[in-house]
Amino acid sequence: MATHGNGSSDFFAKMPEIKFTKLFINGQFVDSVSGKTFETIDPRNGEVIARVAEGDKEDVDLAVKAARHAFDHGPWPRLSGSERGKILMEFANLIEEHAEELAALDTVDAGKLFAGGKATDIPHVIDIIRYYAGAADKVHGEVLKMSGKFQAYTLREPIGVVGLIIPWNFPCTLLSLKTSPALAAGCTMVVKPAEQTPLSALYYAHLAKLAGVPDGVLNVITGYGETAGAAISSHMDIDKLRFTGSTEVGRKVMQAAAASNLKPVSLELGGKSPLLIFDDADVNTASSLALSGVLYNKGEICVASSRVYVQEGIYDEFVKQLVEKAKSWVVGDPFDPKVCQGPQVDKKQFEKILYYIEQGKREGATLLTGGKAFSNKGLYIEPTIFVDVKDDMLIAQDEIFGPVFSLMKFKTIDEAIKRANNTRYGLAAGVVTKDFNVANTVSRSIRAGTIWINCYFGFDVGCPFGGYKMSGFGRDYGLEALYEYFHIKSVVTPIYNSPW
Ligand code: NAD
Repeated sequence: MATHGNGSSDFFAKMPEIKFTKLFINGQFVDSVSGKTFETIDPRNGEVIARVAEGDKEDVDLAVKAARHAFDHGPWPRLSGSERGKILMEFANLIEEHAEELAALDTVDAGKLFAGGKATDIPHVIDIIRYYAGAADKVHGEVLKMSGKFQAYTLREPIGVVGLIIPWNFPCTLLSLKTSPALAAGCTMVVKPAEQTPLSALYYAHLAKLAGVPDGVLNVITGYGETAGAAISSHMDIDKLRFTGSTEVGRKVMQAAAASNLKPVSLELGGKSPLLIFDDADVNTASSLALSGVLYNKGEICVASSRVYVQEGIYDEFVKQLVEKAKSWVVGDPFDPKVCQGPQVDKKQFEKILYYIEQGKREGATLLTGGKAFSNKGLYIEPTIFVDVKDDMLIAQDEIFGPVFSLMKFKTIDEAIKRANNTRYGLAAGVVTKDFNVANTVSRSIRAGTIWINCYFGFDVGCPFGGYKMSGFGRDYGLEALYEYFHIKSVVTPIYNSPW
């Protein structure tokens, strides 16, 4: 069984003050039109952290109106890229100053590790903002010689008002991934954070205003998906949608976009990523990679390596080492620096994971460790390892989004590739081998947006990230994400008497 964190440090002192709980529209914190609020809950103990304004269609309308005005008449799209870049640099500096508060808000809202948030997530947010701040003045079109006596030049024009819908598993990171390139491009926006994790988004909006982002450019509507989210997806005056979340909701968002004004959509969706471990791998290294590949962020990560395929020669030793490591994995209060895994985000997610564990047992997989809630207080689940998993079992097909391993044995590379591709998802995959040819063959054969060779979770703001198949389309990170926020306009002129 996994061990308890028993940190004797003063980690409870890190509980943040909740300063912002209202909608952020046109540079002001305001109540929702209905006056309604909803509770945001601490998954460590089920206590209410705060009541937050519940935005709905009328609030989305007001936010879109503010964003439209800021786009059509405000300074933001009309500034030069370098002027926008300077403001974004200031924004990144403010995030750096307030890193601890932002990390703590995501810890109480989502059960994420506080130390990890402060050391990794928020510095990554800062990197993201600085990257797009630097890119803002490097966007330009091309000059084209056309057939006949014509030439054209292309303009990249900001696409307009964008709707950004965010999930709860990396609240601040995903918020900055969507908003920073949009800001750099000169767009204005309406953002909806997940209802489970509204707090860091409001703090982020406050810091954006302090940095000098003009009123109406960045609006945040807290509220539920079926109401506020749906109002964004179907809004007639939003020009582009970017969504990160489940495949099921991504489909609804795309349908709403098609049924309204045909706005273009980018979708970053779920995954069921395979990790292929070959006989020549170092078992200690490979089992550690698999361990964090599944358990990082309590398994609530879209690229979790939740299908682990191990070649038969090292399978038994791999399983032995993985089980030992899982048993010493520390579960407990995410403010405790000794803890590796906090509580699942909410009751629904907690129950969904326990359902899949029961389903795995029912379908005949063998449970080697874990398999139940970790304590009777808080939404903690033991790291859970299943072996004898068949490819068609639900636990090998569905995204569980929790600390659950499905281990499978394979004989040959061809078999491994075929089975790895036997999924409706295509977000990421990993391969562990010393053989360069095997690594290359696997990388080129697996239909997924990111392949990690002898590593896992290697992310960088310059490296594009996104899905194949039902993991979505469009890319976060890199210049690819920035270009999603522009229209390309071709301007054609005749050329008279040109020698070439
Ligand atoms: P979710 O799809 O339930 O919710 C995501 C967002 O959509 C939330 O803000 C929610 O309120 C909103 N929403 C819900 N119903 C809506 C509707 N009808 N119309 C418009 N918006 C609606 O996802 P989640 O449970 O918050 O997050 C987990 C999922 O996100 C997992 O499937 C995970 O793989 C995926 N994810 C993907 C990536 C990626 O980059 N591919 C990253 C993180 C998470």
